[in-house]
Amino acid sequence: MITIALLSLALAGQAQEKSGLAKPENIDKSAWKVDETEMNRKIDSLLSVMTLKEKIGQTVLYSSGYTVTGPTLDENYTDYLKDGMVGAIFNAFTADYTTQLQKMAVENTRLGIPIMFGYDVIHGHRTIFPISLGESASWDMEMIKKGAEVAAAEASAEGIHWTYAPMVDITRDPRWGRVSEGAGEDVYLANKIAKARVHGFQGDDLSDVTTVLACAKHYAAYGAAEAGRDYNTVDMSERKLREIYLPPFMATVEAGVGSIMTSFNEISGVPSSANSFLLDEVLRKEWGFSGFVVTDYTSINEMIPHGYSKDEKQSAEQAMNAGVDMDMQGGVYLNHLEELVKEGKVSEERITEAARRILEMKYRLGLFQDPYKYSNQKRQDETTYKPEFLEAARDMARKSMVLLKNKDQILPLKKDQKIALIGPLVKDESNIIGSWAAQGDRSGKAVSVFEGFEEVLGNMKNVTYAQGTSIDTDDKSGFKAAVEVAKKADVVVMVVGERENMTGEAASQVDINIPGVQKELIAEIKKTGKPIVLVLMNGRPLTLSYENETADAMLEAWFPGTMGGAAVADVLFGNYNPSGKLTMTFPRSVGQIPLYYNAKNTGRPKDDSVEPKYRSKYTDSPNTPLFPFGYGLSYTNFDYSNIKISNTNPTFDQDFNISVEVTNTGNFDGEEVVQLYVRDLFGSVTRPVKELKGFEKISLKKGETKTVSFTLNSDELRFYNADMDFVAEPGKFEAFIGKNSSDDALKVSFELKK
Ligand code: BGC
Repeated sequence: MITIALLSLALAGQAQEKSGLAKPENIDKSAWKVDETEMNRKIDSLLSVMTLKEKIGQTVLYSSGYTVTGPTLDENYTDYLKDGMVGAIFNAFTADYTTQLQKMAVENTRLGIPIMFGYDVIHGHRTIFPISLGESASWDMEMIKKGAEVAAAEASAEGIHWTYAPMVDITRDPRWGRVSEGAGEDVYLANKIAKARVHGFQGDDLSDVTTVLACAKHYAAYGAAEAGRDYNTVDMSERKLREIYLPPFMATVEAGVGSIMTSFNEISGVPSSANSFLLDEVLRKEWGFSGFVVTDYTSINEMIPHGYSKDEKQSAEQAMNAGVDMDMQGGVYLNHLEELVKEGKVSEERITEAARRILEMKYRLGLFQDPYKYSNQKRQDETTYKPEFLEAARDMARKSMVLLKNKDQILPLKKDQKIALIGPLVKDESNIIGSWAAQGDRSGKAVSVFEGFEEVLGNMKNVTYAQGTSIDTDDKSGFKAAVEVAKKADVVVMVVGERENMTGEAASQVDINIPGVQKELIAEIKKTGKPIVLVLMNGRPLTLSYENETADAMLEAWFPGTMGGAAVADVLFGNYNPSGKLTMTFPRSVGQIPLYYNAKNTGRPKDDSVEPKYRSKYTDSPNTPLFPFGYGLSYTNFDYSNIKISNTNPTFDQDFNISVEVTNTGNFDGEEVVQLYVRDLFGSVTRPVKELKGFEKISLKKGETKTVSFTLNSDELRFYNADMDFVAEPGKFEAFIGKNSSDDALKVSFELKK
């Protein structure tokens, strides 16, 4: 008896130990390879001879004039560079140009400290992979990591050391254009993708010339902008911040990310670039982050219009004292820090600390060993558009596509069918690579859908083409020709969607229908009675109710990248069986937004069988989405059966398994993302109706059955309780394994015991 009592005390103790705030279990610094003692010796000796001005110089980041990604404030960056007043440059690339700029720093300045070159290498540098939201729909961590590796290899050969990626903002509002850059709405999946991307960019050695330093952005809650309007205000509970918006950042810290970028928005009244709660308390003290923090583009200066700083000088003081180490493009550190130190408003120690963090990363990148080692013309020539990179981009594009509808198995197409290719994106070679496509070529390098068909079919004798209209004009002059080609075909493939810059930064929209008169074109083609396959290219969830009613099949291709058209043809002709699953909910209408699967139940959930009126619902629309999170079809069919749980009464320290059998009952081999969701029925605070807690992408041959088993334990069931402790609570749970977040056919219950 005594032993049992002691044991349960010990177990209770264990459960208690896990209270407090969520912290990284382990920070993986395996890519930070250098000898730390040697590094500290070098940086100590450097800092001991650096003037205050030279230290400030390290905190200054300017855009080169090569390309710009925002308003350029200062054209004189090369003069500052020669004076040692710029520590890092962004938007500069090519081996040649980065070598020239590096020479100015290394050969002309007193201490010859090398420049660090940054750039937004998001989903490829020259070989462009699908937009990040598309990649996330693959649920394939190896491929996502591979995409980042390829991007790093191409970018680093052109002298780039540092990428402003991954973007790890949770996105629940498709009006916000930047949903295209993220990994969707779910925290569990986003954490895994965040880690895969950091590992892909940084590799296992930051000083290796084929890897780059990653930068997790935009810290924090940028995706929660009110009304989905870019840069807009964010105000939320600490619980929501910690449960939904912060975890992917913590995941990047765990993965060893070397830098973090602040966001443009304010959170509950304090702009992120002066937010010491985010920067000091959470990032440094709770998570132990030891890399450096950079702002977003002029976001320190923007604290004036935010109404937080009365002038630039005060904004510099607030940002530096809150923990921002580097000023992107704002010039306020350059212009005001020296005076602020003299006035005693900012300490020199704080500036030394910021400079040290930046110098450490330069050291880890190997720049003190050889400042020119990344910029290498030969490597640039050999690396750019390597055939294996193009093949990987094609593979990723296929894996990212989501089959939304396939009535009567109209897909895959048969090669001998007469096909009419119609729509503004059939021959497009520019929009297809999406926004934030770095140096992706928009003038012919990308494979259009038309060219993809040519390649896969060998010849176009059974294919006719009409553009029909453009993306977002009201031009209907091509409708007639489009109807004519449709009439003569067995099947019509329409490639429709958005312009690439309708998503990305500063691209919020209140209308997320397919733009222009494309819908009307679909209606005209429908009148011919021919079956319609819609291929969609877009960077956000769209409202597709009309298209879903009208088309026979729909393939969500996102902006699929350089090899996008070939990948579309691979999927349409069945050379690849689609396996992507949505990572953002597709609403029926804008009025439902924000609409995400892991919502709360409310006290009056919709239930027509009980009381249809006084319920949480719309009177003019269902609550349900058009396509839920996790949704995506295949050419084959997967049957789920036999859900089992190994222990219906697990204690806090016990692992337990939930398993299911999945059988491929259709006519094609295929891949399926098997998803596990959990619902915590009662808590000291309310919990969502479902939360993703596991997934596995499996491959099944025709007729094959596999058992998929997930291991859970109380750690996976933690949340912020009423006291803001990150704990699991004893009680009843339900677990679902299915094809998507709305699939609740297979369910087991369990009770977590103390
Ligand atoms: C964007 C960032 C980007 C930066 C540098 C900003 O406008 O918000 O995501 O990294 O520009 O180009």
